[in-house]
Parts: sequence; structure tokens; C-alpha cells
Amino acid sequence: MSGSGDKSGTSPKGGKDDMNKNDKNDRAAALIRELLAELGEDPKREGLLSTPRRVSEALRYFTQGYGVNVDEIVAEAIFEEKQEEMVLLKDIDFYSLCEHHLVPFFGKCHIAYIPDNRIIGLSKLARVVDVFARRLQVQERMTREIAQAIDHHLKPHGVAVVIEAQHLCMMMRGVEKQNSLATTSTMLGEFKENAATRMEFLSLLGGLRKAY
Ligand code: ZN
Repeated sequence: MSGSGDKSGTSPKGGKDDMNKNDKNDRAAALIRELLAELGEDPKREGLLSTPRRVSEALRYFTQGYGVNVDEIVAEAIFEEKQEEMVLLKDIDFYSLCEHHLVPFFGKCHIAYIPDNRIIGLSKLARVVDVFARRLQVQERMTREIAQAIDHHLKPHGVAVVIEAQHLCMMMRGVEKQNSLATTSTMLGEFKENAATRMEFLSLLGGLRKAY
């Protein structure tokens, strides 16, 4: 999914004098204002006046996962519990930005683990997904990072993470079929070593749109 930027080096219209006062302390907004001009737009027309600030705020929100320590989230939510049966949390919605195009990819994350008498609050599993999704990502790495974070802190018998996602960078550029779904998985411990465990997990997932 490589880009094809072929902008010539023309300098954007305007400059510091054109910057909205609100952008003064927001370098990202100033850069987006320049980008709008570079794309052939007029950053001074009414509909775009607040766009740089809005885009800057949105990007900071979409990437707020950088400022969150996932170790702290997980560590404080672990409970001792006599439980060694599979725990499965399906259909965790997420929205992320593809690091190649800064365009959204989004979908569902499914997490299963087999506790070794330690469990984690289910809402924290969803929070872990959020932390990794709100960074610039590739789907494969995000899948692995979620699995490794759970494995590292919970030390379960096994962890399985499956992500199904649609990538706007592909859909909008017509690279693949419009409804194509990318599926990635990471299997650790028993999910990796034991075919029966893996099959149980996949059958519990049931209605995945794409077959494995
Ligand atoms: Zn992309």
C-alpha cells in the first residue's frame, strides 16, 4: 500500500501572515493550512477557516494512544480468579489510521485468552485495543501488539487476537474490491500449539465475514 505523492515543489500561497490567530500556538494547524494551499485550495475561504484547527485537534485525538502507557492500564485491572476456561470478547469496534496514508482503517477486534487463574476486566481489553488503535498503525502490527500486551501481563495459557478491518486507503483508491475485508490474527501459547483450542476459538467466533 505505498503512496504516490508527486507534488512539485511549489511553495504554498501565503505564509505566516495568513495564519489564523487561533493557529498561532498550533504548529500542526499552520502546516495543515499550508497543505490546503498546496492541494490547490484557498485556506482563506469561509468553509476552510477553522479547518486547520479542527484537523489538528482530530489528529491529536486519533493518535492519543501515544500518550497512554498500556502497561499501567493492564496491570491495575488484573484479578486472581480460579478460572482456566477460555474467555472470549467479540466484536470490539475500533478506528485507526493507516500509517502509510494517514487514512482510516476500522473494523472489529476479537480477543480470547485462557487464564492461568488470573483474569482481566473485560472493559480493559477493549481499552487495550483503543490504545493501540489510536496510533498510526498497520493492521498486522496492531494485532500482534494487542496479543503481546495481554500475554505479557496476564501470563495466560494462551492468547488469540483476530482483527477484521476495512481500509479506506484501499477502498477510496479502488485498489481492491470495495468491500474487501483484511483479516489478521496472532495466536500465542495454547492457541498456537493446540489445534483443538484454535478450532474451538474459531468456531466460537462463528460469523466472521471471511473464512480462514
Ligand atoms: Zn494505507
